[in-house]
Amino acid sequence: MRADVVVVGSANADLVVSVARRPGPGETVLGSDTEVLPGGKGANTAVAAAKLGARVSLLAAVGHDSYGRMLVDSLESAGIDTASIRHLERPTGVAYIFLTPDGENSILVSPGANSALSPADVRIAGGKVLVASLEVPLPTIEHAVALAAEQGIRVVVNVSPPAELSPQTLAVLDPVVVNEHEAAELLGPDSDPRRLLDLGPRSAVVTLGARGVLVIEPDGVQEIPSPQVAAVDTTGAGDAFTGALAARLAEGVDLATAARFAVRVAAVSVTRRGAQPSYPTADEIPG
Ligand code: ADP
Repeated sequence: MRADVVVVGSANADLVVSVARRPGPGETVLGSDTEVLPGGKGANTAVAAAKLGARVSLLAAVGHDSYGRMLVDSLESAGIDTASIRHLERPTGVAYIFLTPDGENSILVSPGANSALSPADVRIAGGKVLVASLEVPLPTIEHAVALAAEQGIRVVVNVSPPAELSPQTLAVLDPVVVNEHEAAELLGPDSDPRRLLDLGPRSAVVTLGARGVLVIEPDGVQEIPSPQVAAVDTTGAGDAFTGALAARLAEGVDLATAARFAVRVAAVSVTRRGAQPSYPTADEIPG
């Protein structure tokens, strides 16, 4: 399969437990049964794009363990090309997610194999859009971005978790994608997110939760509102947005048109529980 959307990023097993309250220091608290779900920003983004019909490959790393097999199986059943996934002598990444009745999540990530994905593991052979997020080492992402840019592939980077990208990397991003907290990390508190273009990317998208997104291009800024929905679980909403954006950009539409579609996809995702299981197919998006 020749992928149109090449995703580079993390793959984690999400171990989700509901608890009445977070344990304090030295305390033991009993929780619900553990739900084991496929997650990680890279895998989530890949699944979001694939469910919408894009041809997707994922470059990521897992261990030789049952979580690694579970993650690869779930990616394959979403139709994703997993030939570039590295199987390393490290445990598969795990996110321990505690859900409390106040609706807040506490998350502890043990990156495992994700932290061993190295620049030497990166091969980019074609594609229309490269999408990366930063739960894997920054040098690996910067190498993938450079290879993609050399091949004329459009590059989208979700700077999450926040990191300091080199000027060379920033200069080819079209767009850089951040939420409001990440924008503040990049620009400093109380800065106008419109200033993101001053950092050098060709375009930028700031996600604003229930309010939608800002699309920032050299010729102007557009506010794209989100459809109003009753949100039940916003886990992985940003990844749903980025995967949908990449899927549309790979079809050759302009950035604002892709973003208008992606907010509709992300809005459906927040009305259902989980990250990947909440992502819609194209025919589940209200016209
Ligand atoms: P992240 O998930 O990375 O923290 P946001 O909270 O900004 O990022 O959410 C990403 C996108 O998901 C938003 O731009 C929006 O399109 C959608 N979204 C998030 N929360 C809601 C919500 N409550 N209602 C509708 N859409 C939402």
